[in-house]
Amino acid sequence: MPVSAAANAVTAAVVRQKGGPFTLEQLQLDGPRADEVLVRIIATGMCHTDMVVRDQVYPVPQPIVLGHEGAGVVEEVGSGVVKVRPGDHVVLTFMSCGRCRLCEQGRPANCENFNAHNFSGARADGTGSLRDERGPIHDHFFGQSSFGTFAVANERNIVKVPKEAPLELLGPLGCGIQTGAGAVMNALKVGHGSSFAAFGAGAVGLSAVMAARAVGATTIIAVDVVPSRLALAKEVGATHTVNVKDRDAVAAIKEITGGGVQFSLETTAIPEVVRQAVDALGVRGMCGIVGAAPPGTEIKIDVTEFMQMAKTVYGIIEGDSVPDVFIPQLLDLHLQGRFPFDKLTKFYPFERINEAASDSARGLTVKPIIRSL
Ligand SMILES: [Zn+2]
Ligand SMILES: [Zn+2]
Repeated sequence: MPVSAAANAVTAAVVRQKGGPFTLEQLQLDGPRADEVLVRIIATGMCHTDMVVRDQVYPVPQPIVLGHEGAGVVEEVGSGVVKVRPGDHVVLTFMSCGRCRLCEQGRPANCENFNAHNFSGARADGTGSLRDERGPIHDHFFGQSSFGTFAVANERNIVKVPKEAPLELLGPLGCGIQTGAGAVMNALKVGHGSSFAAFGAGAVGLSAVMAARAVGATTIIAVDVVPSRLALAKEVGATHTVNVKDRDAVAAIKEITGGGVQFSLETTAIPEVVRQAVDALGVRGMCGIVGAAPPGTEIKIDVTEFMQMAKTVYGIIEGDSVPDVFIPQLLDLHLQGRFPFDKLTKFYPFERINEAASDSARGLTVKPIIRSL
């Protein structure tokens, strides 16, 4: 497959050591294979998972180009690609194999080969596309490595979006936003008239709040420690907020809901908070867990209460999303004004990617989006 001249040299943010920083470097990128697509990246959301991989909480080989919420324009397609053509606008999302039992059942977020396709620092077959003059740079993070001016993704992990939509905003739909919204809509199936509590009012928690509002939940509680995030939660749909610096979250939620919430979502990955998200449930309540904790992290629950109150704890990856179905749904809601995720975002030029990371870590920015150009 010929490599287009424009794509051959790329600028990408490389992480060469635990904890970073991201350094912008000139690299060489191979063109797409038969089932792949070369995308000119317009902008990429920064997600908590980029940080935990940069910091090696999840061990992924370095040096590596991260970034897994890319949005861009198709530049070149492999010979077997039918989903898109050059010039199409796309959102990049997580990769799945398409052939395992879970993929065949329509559950690509639970793909049996998820780690090989998303966290191995290469394609699942061990090959990569990026290199500098000294040798290969790990890539294909979430099947894309989109902190760069171009990325190679697979036909499976791109979603075509209409050209009228604001492309530079859409990358976060591919991971953080669909994780929170999908947890509510696809996994927990929060219904109209129900009660819901989000533990953590970051990008995932606030996306869950917006989704709970969109599906007609009547009691929507956001729990956090940052006043500005709680204020934003109210703006995008929370009916109540709880600052755990002021109040005990479980007691507050039981008081607001008259005994316990029907659905809770844990986004912080802090074991004590997970416990609170389970303890705050009412009878037959369901708690979704999406926070990424270091491998080996354990939670404690009161077995008797858990059983007698018939609670459910549900581990959720990528919002149980089928991206080709769900991302267009979220985009429709957004374009109708019913899913205002733009309120979570702040744009940064590519050369300020480290500032975006530190603003995110300090709670100053909920969802940074890095422009590639
Ligand atoms: Zn699979
Ligand atoms: Zn992510």
